[in-house]
Amino acid sequence: MKYYAKPLTRLINELSKLPGIGGKSAQRLAFHILSLEDQEAFDLAEAIVDAKKNMKYCSVCGNLTDVDPCSYCSDQTREKGVICVVESPRDVSAMERIKEFHGQYHVLHGAISPMDGIGPEDINLKQLIVRLQENDIKEVILATNPNIEGEATAMYISRLIKPAGIKVTRIAHGIPVGGDLEYADEVTLSKAMEGRREL
Ligand SMILES: [Zn+2]
Repeated sequence: MKYYAKPLTRLINELSKLPGIGGKSAQRLAFHILSLEDQEAFDLAEAIVDAKKNMKYCSVCGNLTDVDPCSYCSDQTREKGVICVVESPRDVSAMERIKEFHGQYHVLHGAISPMDGIGPEDINLKQLIVRLQENDIKEVILATNPNIEGEATAMYISRLIKPAGIKVTRIAHGIPVGGDLEYADEVTLSKAMEGRREL
């Protein structure tokens, strides 16, 4: 990208590091940003810095939040005895959109994937065990993605915590195998929750 002046090259380089943004898209975005009013461009830059500075992981559930514990963990009206285990903070948002689950969450930040060298100790699993030991949890809903890694993770967690006498359920496969929870439409996700089965 030697045809562009340094500041523009830098902007294109940074943008092209974003997921799903190739070189062409990065250039298009960079030119678009330069065409913005000053204030609009500053607002964009400030939003990035502000989110990065103020968002953190909830020390209880691992969800992304600006206050710790997060609003779900500190909401006294939510059911305390059920934990829904998901892979990413985006899955929490997906679950919240269906407005049918009113329990607690636990975000793993990934899934077990031996192929990628990701083992149980590489995801947020220890904290889940601590929560199960310290609280009276009646059910753990495993809502990991319905792909190989998600299934393997669900099986692993199920084997780990079932001996403690906790009911473990897995969401039903209304969600296409190989699909991502966050992209499921609300009806599908809602059906998947309804049809969860005990592991
Ligand atoms: Zn939380």
